[in-house]
Amino acid sequence: MKLSPIEGTSFGRFFLPGPTEIHPEVLSAQNKAVIGHRGPAIKELMGELQTGLRDLFRTERPVLISTSSATGLMEAAVRNGGRSRVLSLVNGAFSQRFGQIAEACGLEVERLEVEWGQIIAADQVRERLASGGFDAVTVVHSETSTGALNPVSEISEAVRELDDVVLLVDSVTGVGGAEVQTDEWGLDFVLTGSQKALALPPGLAFGVASERLMARSAAATRKGVYFDLVTFQKQLGNLQTPTTPAVSLMYALAKQLDRIRLEGLEARWARHQAMADRCGQWVDMMREQRGVTLSVLAPEGSRSPTVTCVALPEGTTGPSVVSAMKERGFTIGGGYGKLKEASFRVGHMGDHTVAELDAVLDALGEVLT
Ligand SMILES: *Cc1c(COP(=O)(O)O)cnc(C)c1O
Repeated sequence: MKLSPIEGTSFGRFFLPGPTEIHPEVLSAQNKAVIGHRGPAIKELMGELQTGLRDLFRTERPVLISTSSATGLMEAAVRNGGRSRVLSLVNGAFSQRFGQIAEACGLEVERLEVEWGQIIAADQVRERLASGGFDAVTVVHSETSTGALNPVSEISEAVRELDDVVLLVDSVTGVGGAEVQTDEWGLDFVLTGSQKALALPPGLAFGVASERLMARSAAATRKGVYFDLVTFQKQLGNLQTPTTPAVSLMYALAKQLDRIRLEGLEARWARHQAMADRCGQWVDMMREQRGVTLSVLAPEGSRSPTVTCVALPEGTTGPSVVSAMKERGFTIGGGYGKLKEASFRVGHMGDHTVAELDAVLDALGEVLT
């Protein structure tokens, strides 16, 4: 049997854009006795997690911990925050899905779609919102399918020019790797999952709701039970969760929040930015020095610090690159959805470093020349 990257000897071989490679220290932090979810022990743990999570999201608000994947909180966002008509900003597969989730939850959805790989400008949002009748906007901060980074703070400013429109932000490959200032940017709901830039095992999701989002939630009629944010916030007031949480994952989270504090959040953002820059330089080098016509899908200045999508020249396919890399012992991401054949993706997020990324790029250089 082949060893998984984690059982193997070397960290730095697993570069999917989620789930991401988990540091052994974080992984082994789970190996502790389970505690009950009512009582002093959980309150102590939850209290510690709140401190770290608030720093991570740059917020004074409580941070909800959901035992679900990130999609659970995307659904929570639209169920609690949407009233009837949603403007869905679409520039890739995950933002498309956000709109589909809103539709599936019974909301009327209008899309502002740009070409995949591009970003959505605040002025485009401003203009569309002026046509009226929207009560919520969905956006994906770092579009994992294309590697584009939407200007969420500017979009939020545009949304806030209207009285009663809330902004729902999927920052699943943002939080922990890209700058997110929940309070300063005035985000109404921002969510992430454990297995992306936070480099935790899959299974937890985290979200912050503004006061006006909570008022929406209190009046929402279709929010169901599991993702009722009012219940979450009420239980959080008592440092507990509505239902049985994945406590073992919370041990890993406590360890990772500690490690993030030691590194410093800004240093962590800078490390991710350096990895994205390195990818961009490598693509230029391949094109200019080796004559391989690669390009980064997202334009310069709009690239995510956590994931790079590289467009391939005719005659080379995404799946063939992924499998040639597998033979060299590296896992990278294929193109996503309609970009599957024409691109591949490198996830450079979580605990990876530029030095580890260089080894991946060296191998990719061999594969592509
Ligand atoms: C991975 C991802 C999701 C889905 O997360 P799950 O944890 O699989 O539910 C949603 N949005 C973005 C941008 C993602 O990268």
